[in-house]
Amino acid sequence: MTERLYYADPYLRRFEAAVTERLSWRGQPAVVLSRSAFYPTGGGQPHDTGWLQGVPVLDVVEREADKAVVHLLEAALPGAPAEAGGEVVIGEVDWPRRFDHMQQHTGQHILSQVAERLLDATTVGFHLGETASTVDLDRAFLNDEQLDQLEEEANRIVFENRPVVARFVSRDELAGLPLRKPPEVSGPIRIVEIQDFDWSPCGGTHVQAAGEVGLIKVVRAERRGSETRVEFLCGGRALADYRVKNRLLLSLASRLSVGYWELDEAIERREEEAQRQRKAAQVAQDQLLAAEARSIAAQAEPLGEFALVSRVLQDRELEDVKRLAVRMAEQHGCVALLGLAGDKGHLVFAAPPDSAYDLRPLLRQACAVIGGGGGGRPHLAQGGGPSGELASLQKALDVASRVIRCKEGGD
Ligand SMILES: [Zn+2]
Repeated sequence: MTERLYYADPYLRRFEAAVTERLSWRGQPAVVLSRSAFYPTGGGQPHDTGWLQGVPVLDVVEREADKAVVHLLEAALPGAPAEAGGEVVIGEVDWPRRFDHMQQHTGQHILSQVAERLLDATTVGFHLGETASTVDLDRAFLNDEQLDQLEEEANRIVFENRPVVARFVSRDELAGLPLRKPPEVSGPIRIVEIQDFDWSPCGGTHVQAAGEVGLIKVVRAERRGSETRVEFLCGGRALADYRVKNRLLLSLASRLSVGYWELDEAIERREEEAQRQRKAAQVAQDQLLAAEARSIAAQAEPLGEFALVSRVLQDRELEDVKRLAVRMAEQHGCVALLGLAGDKGHLVFAAPPDSAYDLRPLLRQACAVIGGGGGGRPHLAQGGGPSGELASLQKALDVASRVIRCKEGGD
C-alpha cells in the first residue's frame, strides 16, 4: 500500500519516493510509488496532476485490490530499467490545481454543515467539477432567502478563520464525536474537523484554516425530485466568476448607456419599445399589402362572376405572397394565381371562399412546369419546384390561366 503523504501534509508539493511497480494502465505507462503526495480520484474530489521526474502525470487512481496509488504517465519514466528496481524519483504536484480542489472541498464541508444546522438539509451528494461544484441536499424546496442564509452563514465561518485539522482517530474517540455523516470505509478513520463546527470522516485534501477557502458563493440551485442541487464556487473560482460577471455587466451597461444598477429597467424599456415598433411595422405592412391587393385586383380580367389575376413577384417573403393571394380572393373576388421567383419557384393559388373552385389539380399542373409539386385546400393551394426563374414561373402561370379560362369558357 502506498503511503499517502497528503494525509499528514496537504501542502506538500514536492517529494521523493521509490518506484515499487511499473505497469500499464488503460494502455498508458504507469507506476506505483512507495509513497505519494498525489491525490487519487475519490470521495467526490478529482485526482491531482503534476510530474514524476518531469514526466506529466495525467491521472491518479486507487487500485481496488490493494489500495495502491497508481500514477498514469504521459510517457515511461526516462532512463529507468524495465523492472522496478526501487529507483528514487521526484514527484511534483500541480499546486494551483490542488489548492483549488482544497478550497472547493473545504468549502463543501462548511456548506454541508451550515445546511444541516440552518436548513435541516442533509448532504446526500457532492461533486467537485472542472468549473463548478455541487452539493445535493435532501430538501425539495429552498427559496432564495434560505440560499442567502446558507451563503451568509458559510462565509461567516470562513471569516472566523477557524482551524481545519485532519487526523486519524480511534474507534473510542470516534464514538464520542458529533459526526455529520457516518464513515463509509472500514479500517482507520480520518476525521476532518473545522474547529468546534464540523466533524466529517473524509480522505480528501483540505486547507488548514477556513479563511483560505476564500469567498463561498452559491451561484444557483435546482430542484431534482425530492432534493435540491446547490452549485457553488469557492476562493479563486468565485473571484474568476466575479471578474467575468462584473466585466459583462459593465459592458452591457455601457452599451445601453446606463449604470449597471439600471440595466433591468433599461432592458425593460427596450423590450417595450421593440414591441411598439413591431406592432407599428405590422400595421404599415398590412396597409401596404391592402393597397397592393387593390392595385393588382384593379387590373384583373373578368372570369365569370369572379376575376382572374396572374402575377409573378420577386424579392418578397413567401408568407407575404400568401397573404396577398388570400386578400385578393377574400376582399376582391379574385382567383389569384401568384408566383414567387427566387432560388426556388413558389406558387400560391387562392379563390374566393364562396366559389366552387378546387385549385389543387390546377396547382399540381402548374407546379409540374417548374419541376415540382404541391397541395393544400380547394380555395388555397400552395407548391413549388426547383426552377425559380421569372420566365419559368410566368410559363407555369400561363398554363394555369389557360386551363382556368378554358374551363370557365366551356362551362
Ligand atoms: Zn473532505
